[in-house]
Amino acid sequence: MRHFDFKDGEMYAEDVPLSQIAAAVGTPVYVYSTATFERHYKVFSEVFSDVEALVAYSVKANSNIAVLATLAKMGCGADVVSGGELIRALTAGIPAEKIVFSGVGKTVEEMRLALSSGIRIFNVESLQELDALNRTALDMGVVAPIAFRVNPDISAGGHEKISTGKAENKFGIAWHSAEEAYARAAAMDGIRIDGVDVHIGSQIDSLDPFRRTIDKVGDLIGRLRSAGHTIKSFDIGGGLGIPYGNNAKIPPHPSDYGAMVKEATKDLDVELIFEPGRMVSGNSGVLLSRVIYAKATGTRNFLILDAAMNDLIRPALYDAYHDIEAVRAPGADFDETLYDVVGPVCETGDTFARSRALPPMSDGDLVVFHTAGAYGAAQASQYNTRPLVPEVMVNGEHYEVIRERPTVEDILKTERLPSWLA
Ligand SMILES: *Cc1c(COP(=O)(O)O)cnc(C)c1O
Repeated sequence: MRHFDFKDGEMYAEDVPLSQIAAAVGTPVYVYSTATFERHYKVFSEVFSDVEALVAYSVKANSNIAVLATLAKMGCGADVVSGGELIRALTAGIPAEKIVFSGVGKTVEEMRLALSSGIRIFNVESLQELDALNRTALDMGVVAPIAFRVNPDISAGGHEKISTGKAENKFGIAWHSAEEAYARAAAMDGIRIDGVDVHIGSQIDSLDPFRRTIDKVGDLIGRLRSAGHTIKSFDIGGGLGIPYGNNAKIPPHPSDYGAMVKEATKDLDVELIFEPGRMVSGNSGVLLSRVIYAKATGTRNFLILDAAMNDLIRPALYDAYHDIEAVRAPGADFDETLYDVVGPVCETGDTFARSRALPPMSDGDLVVFHTAGAYGAAQASQYNTRPLVPEVMVNGEHYEVIRERPTVEDILKTERLPSWLA
């Protein structure tokens, strides 16, 4: 069931009318559903309940500590890509032994933090990073558990900007260098080889690239074991797509993904690690916004919203589609109007949708962007000195603000006039 749906002619998040949140917190605002987070995590993790597996939610998709704590309560781990995300995950109560650290540019400072926390594994992406991690671990008198993120040179992902597993992408160890990298790591006293890691892209809409990747890495695991390495874990990354409500291909259901992965890995004798992000958080949130002006120019009908590209950048960055709906259910018979839905930011790229069919809208009406729980608030900025969009978590009939909207004073507080202008 959907947790953002109409009751008595208006849209609710679980048992809270969105209009109530808009009135109390203001707009634009991200609204999340606890029940949806829980359901998505469950759907994914239950597929793997009969095998050894760690589900490490990709924190970058939606990193609010209330989201992380909601998932932590259910036993979820975390995939982090920075020291900041690591601190978030630990703060939210995710145990270090369920945290994996990904990313192409880990600094020594971040490595120290992760080593002193005792995280589960580092996904190492270059020999330079390996050297730095070895030195840091030796310096601290500890041993760093690692997997190499290998680049399988497989094309996947819904958009070129979210494809990561091709040879020309910056991610991972080149496929032909993988065995050499493991040999080098095996000789280091500050490093313990634990597994192999891949992550081929995001919003992937078919099982085929996952299957080809698993088969390819499966062969590599065999070769690594023949060379004497102990390979205990296989991190398959994230990337499973979700439906956004447009006419694009519907991605595979997590249970089909799970069945395929279990079948493809059944003889590998590894602990599986998963890093789902979008799949867990995407449909768990909406962006709630108000129409500032419904402006007709003679050639186009513009809906100018109080949300903008700085609040939700996916349409501008990836040409992404989001379902947009009026919060008040339209009456039985109305003529749909084609709107260009835009924000107030001074960029033509600040366009959410063109010629979108909606019921006739007026100034002050509320709209929601569906499927905005992943890569929404997490990618928001304060461009145009628009205060960072707040976030609200709903739980049944309760809701609370989980990130406040800063004031302009809060924004200016971090800025200084240099001495020669003061
Ligand atoms: C972004 C990312 C993920 C999550 O991707 P989704 O498409 O949101 O599932 C997982 N692992 C790594 C290394 C990532 O960079």
